[in-house]
Amino acid sequence: MTATALIEACHELAQRGWVANHDGNLSVRRPGHGYLVTPTAFRKADVRAVDVLVVDDSGAVQQGRHRVFSEWQLHRAVFNARSDAMAVVHAHPPYASAMACADRRLDPCFMAEAIVSLGPAIGWVPFAVPGDDQLTDAVGEAARMNNSALLGQHGVLSWGSDLTMAICRMELVEHLAKIVTLAQAFGGVRTLDSGVVRTMTEKHIKAGLAAPDLQR
Ligand SMILES: [Zn+2]
Repeated sequence: MTATALIEACHELAQRGWVANHDGNLSVRRPGHGYLVTPTAFRKADVRAVDVLVVDDSGAVQQGRHRVFSEWQLHRAVFNARSDAMAVVHAHPPYASAMACADRRLDPCFMAEAIVSLGPAIGWVPFAVPGDDQLTDAVGEAARMNNSALLGQHGVLSWGSDLTMAICRMELVEHLAKIVTLAQAFGGVRTLDSGVVRTMTEKHIKAGLAAPDLQR
């Protein structure tokens, strides 16, 4: 994956209204060559190829003239927990972030297709101030079992085998959060029978989309 893909993903987050001000950060793992990451304090609409950084595991900048974002530890926690994750995306899509900020969990088990694509659960990471080790540990824990997570009082983190997959997962999380919100007008979403959830989870695993810990 190249810096161009990272830039396009930055611009997509901005176009979709998933970030405001300097919100959001993205990273791509390049085995043996560190990580391509977005610089801190940039509007995602304004990031250009020349602004992209290369950092090592510790977040030290190897290439580039800007500083790395402060949430790098969260991205690294995902990469450490998931050898299959090659890209991590963080943003504040409004419906999913509204749920996270209201301390509400998001459960995909009301829509069969969503379980196949995303898995039977979305991770939940309780709020902690950025930089707190507890937050990093909780993100790693969420990554072992899930393909995305709501960050309490904050936003959404998603990951995948490339940037497109990480963004697709965030898109689905946001879509589900919107449906949950709209369904409130009709008494709320109804959870599928446990047998259906099991069948769809098996399809999710069979499709090679599941977190390794879910397959055990
Ligand atoms: Zn954020």
